Amino acid sequence: MEKTDLHELRKDPLLGRWVAVLGQPKAPSDYAISPATDNEGSCILCAGREKETAAEIMSLSGGNESKTWATRVIPNFVPVFRVEGELWRRGDGMYDKMNSIGANEIIIESPEHSVRPEDKGLDQMSKVIRTYRERMIDLEKDPRLRYTLIYKNSGKEAGAVYSHPLSHLASTPVIPKRVREELDGAKEYFAYKERCIFCDIIREELRVGSRVILETRHFISFCPYASKFPFESWIVPKRHCCAFQDIDREEIEDLALILSSVLKKLRTAFPGLAFNYFIHSAPNRMPRKDHWHTLGEDFHWHMEIMPRLMRTSGFEWGSGFYILPTSPEHASKYLREV
Ligand SMILES: [Zn+2]
Ligand SMILES: [Zn+2]
Ligand SMILES: [Zn+2]
Repeated sequence: MEKTDLHELRKDPLLGRWVAVLGQPKAPSDYAISPATDNEGSCILCAGREKETAAEIMSLSGGNESKTWATRVIPNFVPVFRVEGELWRRGDGMYDKMNSIGANEIIIESPEHSVRPEDKGLDQMSKVIRTYRERMIDLEKDPRLRYTLIYKNSGKEAGAVYSHPLSHLASTPVIPKRVREELDGAKEYFAYKERCIFCDIIREELRVGSRVILETRHFISFCPYASKFPFESWIVPKRHCCAFQDIDREEIEDLALILSSVLKKLRTAFPGLAFNYFIHSAPNRMPRKDHWHTLGEDFHWHMEIMPRLMRTSGFEWGSGFYILPTSPEHASKYLREV
């Protein structure tokens, strides 16, 4: 095989899904699962070690009493996507590929190594949400990028490499398949009923009540009717809005409250829990020829929290069919009561 620095996106011709092939290939021995090596002493994400990371993209101040930042954004250490260059979409025999253009950032959620934002208080969690919002607004301006996903890996089983509290951001030149499926489903429902499916789900969950974990002034958290994983929990804004970055000041404070509460409930129910969460927002709303015309009406941003309580088996991989050992009604009851 010729030696090249691959680093490209390839399209699966059967499923229409893109995969990112990294440069510097890993040998089989590089996949050995190593024990977590980072600790407070060796962590360069902690406050006071700013010079040891790449130049900062943005930060929010800790306020008057604090001598340091509250949140800080830096480029990812091992980027999957590269910021510089052109997409250069092209054929490769029968296949399609393009350059791996995009952005990968690390959002450091706390200056202290062992203080999580949900434990530090609502002001810190509000700043984390404001940081997410500012990065989304900034990246939406890049016409090469179609989508920005903000996600969190907490705990080794959830893919976390660092134990410092952080989230990730990945901006991609294509809309991820999972998001496209949601956009298509929402669009189809809207075409049929002329109503937003998420607004209908909120009304139904509030009417039935048995899957609701928590309700605040502007948000509702519930275990979805057909969850994929036990204790899967969603947070959805009551105000219809397709894009997370359009969240207002009052909603930021309210989201900080409900997100902190749900995370604390999950951690109380499952000490040492590993989980992922992500924000599903509209694709970058740049005018394009294949733009969704009804996107503003049919899509509704939301957060999905996925506790990693079970390993995915051959059945799930092979069928895309999920088995729930705890019903969403039982899961939400446990979470309401902890
Ligand atoms: Zn640290
Ligand atoms: Zn809606
Ligand atoms: Zn979603």
